[in-house]
Amino acid sequence: MKPFPELTLVQSVAHTLSSRARIHTLAKIPVPERARAKVKEFPLYGFSIGSEEPTAPVLGIVGGVHGLERIGSQVVLSSLISWVERLHWDETLMRDLEHFRLVVVPILNPVGMFMESRSNGNGVDLMRNAPVDAEDKTHFLMGGHRITNRLPWYRGLAGAPMELENQVLCEFIKKESFQSEFSLWLDVHSGYGIHDRLWFPYAKSTRPFPHLPESFALKTLFDRTYPYHVYQIEPQSHEYTTHGDVWDYIYEQRHHGLVDHGVGPLLMPLTLEMGSWAWIKKNPLQLFSFLGPFNPIKPHRKKRILRRHLNFFDFLMRAVMNHSVWSRPSTEERGELLRAAMAHWYA
Ligand SMILES: [Zn+2]
Repeated sequence: MKPFPELTLVQSVAHTLSSRARIHTLAKIPVPERARAKVKEFPLYGFSIGSEEPTAPVLGIVGGVHGLERIGSQVVLSSLISWVERLHWDETLMRDLEHFRLVVVPILNPVGMFMESRSNGNGVDLMRNAPVDAEDKTHFLMGGHRITNRLPWYRGLAGAPMELENQVLCEFIKKESFQSEFSLWLDVHSGYGIHDRLWFPYAKSTRPFPHLPESFALKTLFDRTYPYHVYQIEPQSHEYTTHGDVWDYIYEQRHHGLVDHGVGPLLMPLTLEMGSWAWIKKNPLQLFSFLGPFNPIKPHRKKRILRRHLNFFDFLMRAVMNHSVWSRPSTEERGELLRAAMAHWYA
């Protein structure tokens, strides 16, 4: 039995990259008995490209948290493949990578992707599974629940350790970026709404998170650089709040005990939620296909999605390399950014 196409692609990228990147098998995730698969486990890969200096700035990209959202992993892989090709001829990129690090986890939930399920092999939704309780009321079920792993959005048992996929993700993020003064982590999803959204924390709370000024600085930088971009940029809680968001957890771990968020390290999580409802509107029949609600089905539409985000990924790379220009406002500038951000998102 062959693994699924995205995993095959990851393995071929790993092969091509072998001399230019650190390629880690972060875990081998067991396939449950009920899947009756010939393969008993799937590897969970992490790539680290560029500077090995622990304090170097980091752009981290994660895909395939939800197994049904294959397009997320495909978008991550499409960027990764472009970068890998450029490593063969783009000396500027090679020089840049001496000063920063690109870290990629293309398929966090390989068993979920193999089984065509949102959750992992244990029926746990990895994005509801961190030890974080929402501060505000969440949607019934969708916000995360502990009723049964037969329903989607299951958090796992109260007090149990995080699922293996999340444990190794957190460890990898710690190892690759907790000594960096600046890191930005993008997590790529699909399936919610009409627009492509970029979310920053919190998922657990409707209150503004401490680095709201820096989020607004990044948004302003992006708006000015790409005035015709397609993204709606907002705190995740503007759409819905959830329990157990892994990025809330990692964010809090990194900034734990920090009193003044204007100084000290910054780990900024961003979630790209690709709006799949537009694909359904154009092709309603795909609602009846199992993967349809989460993925573009028609080949021309899929190609369009695979190139749609390349500019944004490149922008993030430049923004990380040049983070000191925009992510460290003076106290006065920070106050102004906060006022502008509050007026924009919380008025
Ligand atoms: Zn998702």
